Amino acid sequence: MRDGRIVAVGSDADALAAAGPGAEIVDLRGRLVLPGFIDGHTHLGNAALWAFEAAVSGLREPAAVVGAVAAVAARIPRGLWIRGGDIGAAEAWEADARGAARPPAMPLDRHALDRAAPDHPVLLRRVDGAYVANSQALARARHTTEEPDAVGGRKERDGTGRLTGVLHGRDGQQMADLLPPTSLELEIVGARLALEDLRRAGITSIHDVARLDAVSQRQLFHTHVERSATDLELFRELQRRGELTARVYAFLTLAVWRDIVAAGIRPRTDEGLIRYGALKAFIDGYLMEKPAADSGYAGDFTFRVVDEATMAADIAGADAAGFDPVVHVTGDKGHRLLLDWFEAAIRTNAPRDRRFRVIHGWYPSAREIGRIGALSLTVDVTPQQQVNDVASADKRLGPERARSAHPWRSLVDAGARIDLVSDWPGRFGDRRPNPLAPLENIALAVGRTWHPEQALTVEEAIAAYTIAPAWASYEEDRKGSVTLGKLADLVVLSRDILTLPADEIRTTRVDMTILGGRVVHRVA
Ligand SMILES: [Zn+2]
Repeated sequence: MRDGRIVAVGSDADALAAAGPGAEIVDLRGRLVLPGFIDGHTHLGNAALWAFEAAVSGLREPAAVVGAVAAVAARIPRGLWIRGGDIGAAEAWEADARGAARPPAMPLDRHALDRAAPDHPVLLRRVDGAYVANSQALARARHTTEEPDAVGGRKERDGTGRLTGVLHGRDGQQMADLLPPTSLELEIVGARLALEDLRRAGITSIHDVARLDAVSQRQLFHTHVERSATDLELFRELQRRGELTARVYAFLTLAVWRDIVAAGIRPRTDEGLIRYGALKAFIDGYLMEKPAADSGYAGDFTFRVVDEATMAADIAGADAAGFDPVVHVTGDKGHRLLLDWFEAAIRTNAPRDRRFRVIHGWYPSAREIGRIGALSLTVDVTPQQQVNDVASADKRLGPERARSAHPWRSLVDAGARIDLVSDWPGRFGDRRPNPLAPLENIALAVGRTWHPEQALTVEEAIAAYTIAPAWASYEEDRKGSVTLGKLADLVVLSRDILTLPADEIRTTRVDMTILGGRVVHRVA
């Protein structure tokens, strides 16, 4: 490697001959080198903010909640707030589903939280709407034993009249209102941790759902379509500070494509490590077309779609401007409409090299699988979503439709390109959040047990984390393979995963991550 690029590929002798006298030589002792992993779908801004959140909603024991708070406290700087909720949610919702009374609130007070986080203010919401604060939080709020309860509120007290930290009604709400607002500076603190997670996982590039704040501030959106988008300024500021340790292909918002063009953003251009070219939209959908096992389960199609004509026009307009639409779709009707719109844009607009994408692609019908293949579209697959879906899929889809659900192999056979993507960090508080680690996701894709005939091979799964997403961002000439002249973005794995079963792929270690020739992660 020299100047951030690969300058020789071949035998040890070839490499040593090319190295020259001043070169640093790293003997990998038989370990596997792969191109740095490219995660084709992340929400780094969410990951950054969730660094301050204790994931407690699925926990059933006070000790587990204390443990979750301690884990956050161990990562974030002292003095910053730790938040989270809802304590006791899992058990309360189970009781709701049974029609039974909810169990009493989990016994948790300031002292338990103090043990977990003596140096951080902590405020956790309970599922009953009360809050639990630790001593640091109470001190910041200047809450003393003498202070009376707020009108419409109540501060719990122990036998000696001292505050327990449990705050009801307006006392809890007033404490929640004291939390400092999110700022760019706070996001940067969280983003440092998120970037560390990427480096440890061997990820050198992400395709991240992002937004231009200056544009967002001047829009009336019909729903909160940018809810999970990273403020592009976060990436720009990290880059200015020299702290951005992943290349970023920013998915900006399709609905505002005209403003993005007006802001001077051009497709297939780079701003240092940040690159543009794709615009994201949602078509939330589920099964809406017969036959489905449960015809009453008719999706939430209109939740984030503006309306069908606007979406079609945005796709055509963005395509004409040289941007690729990348669209979240799950349901069968959603797929059909999306492909109608993609095909219409391609028919109407001038020919060009396109990299349109289908994000998720859970339930295309057999016909839509064929259409995706015929267009050689990229489908972004998150293996954990298939795992999470098993419980409801068989029941809701019925055996016939289940055959074309999460149809990875069928898509490949039809001619589609597959990206394996994490969609990290997933829904906050999920019992099984979307894993970030490519090796975990490769293991899930290879070791799929539900309709295992749809699993990927290890080679396909690696390609889906390297050359396929490189192609999707028009970077196959500089990324995605260990090739002379390409960027020196590499990962060193402790074992050769090409010969391993899924369980051993999962436990393989990322020993080294290299970004542009610079070692950004190394196992000690
Ligand atoms: Zn997502």
